[in-house]
Amino acid sequence: MEQKKSEGCGASRAKAPVAGVPPASGRAPGEGGGATSAQAEWSLGASVLLAVPRGFCAGVDRAIEIVERALAKFGPPVYVRHEIVHNTYVVDGLKRKGAVFIEDLAGVPAGATLIFSAHGVPRAVQRQAAERSLRVFDATCPLVTKVHVEVARLHQQGYDIIMIGHRGHPEVEGTMGQVDGAIHLVECAQDVARIQPAQTAKLAVVTQTTLSVDDAAQVMAAIRARFPNVRQPKQQDICYATQNRQDAVKLLAREVDVVIVVGSPTSSNSNRLREVARKFGVDSHMADSAADLRPEWVQGKPRIGLTAGASAPDILVRQIIERLRALGAVSVRSLGGIDEAVKFPLPKGLKLEEAARANLEHLH
Ligand code: SF4
Repeated sequence: MEQKKSEGCGASRAKAPVAGVPPASGRAPGEGGGATSAQAEWSLGASVLLAVPRGFCAGVDRAIEIVERALAKFGPPVYVRHEIVHNTYVVDGLKRKGAVFIEDLAGVPAGATLIFSAHGVPRAVQRQAAERSLRVFDATCPLVTKVHVEVARLHQQGYDIIMIGHRGHPEVEGTMGQVDGAIHLVECAQDVARIQPAQTAKLAVVTQTTLSVDDAAQVMAAIRARFPNVRQPKQQDICYATQNRQDAVKLLAREVDVVIVVGSPTSSNSNRLREVARKFGVDSHMADSAADLRPEWVQGKPRIGLTAGASAPDILVRQIIERLRALGAVSVRSLGGIDEAVKFPLPKGLKLEEAARANLEHLH
């Protein structure tokens, strides 16, 4: 679940709209160009503007492929610790194909196939799986694993660690669970005053990968103010996908009257996209599916922005576009943005022979 912020962690909300922003200058498919036709377009009905990039990231793509390949190779059931990614449509689809989602390894039969979700797991869970002789595939996103490795290395070097993240989120539990003690969670700038590291001579910071870039910078500033010698990550831990989607929403927010974020309530990066849009002064809502989209969100709004969290599949975006068309949208076009070409390798042991390959095609 998306976790509540701790007491005193209310995020600031800059409500002031961005003034004087002209409408999007691009052309709707099949329409003429120029300001005149753009103005005509607004008067005829709403226009949908799509953020780029949006939707699946490389870590989510890889995690889903790991589950599907395991199902094709070993047959159902395949057990998955926690939702493989935080998306209802994806999880329900994999359940229908034979995945069983569990939180506690106690219910997994000996010898079964178990997959760790993209969010990662604490070391205690890895040990428990090894003791149970399970066939384990790790779908932890490599960018989360990178933070795990960093935490373990810093701990070995004698650092106390401050983690910026959301309490109770599985990624935070997994990262904090890489070491025993000596790691302090802060959710907001106010939390920084409350932590009591055993020593401050060697203090380092890591972050959850899916935070708001701007909120994390504020917390980081508060940490630096209290602990001037703190060691910061060489490259920030917030991942490329989170950063790119937030940058795209900032551009989108300048062009539209409302932003719809496709994503599940449990998805951290989707929630951050909605917050970013609101901070840029634009009304914003999250929809887990087309059925969630409420007409009053878009009524009277001539320019509708649409984006999707890193765990939301493109089919949901297409279904929401269809619903917007049914509600009166007359054109759809994409805002220019970064073309992501990131791809992560699969873990060993999931190469498919001919029969398993046919199974995989059958699953799709
Ligand atoms: S959002 Fe970032 S950290 Fe999470 S799975 Fe995608 S690439 Fe990995």
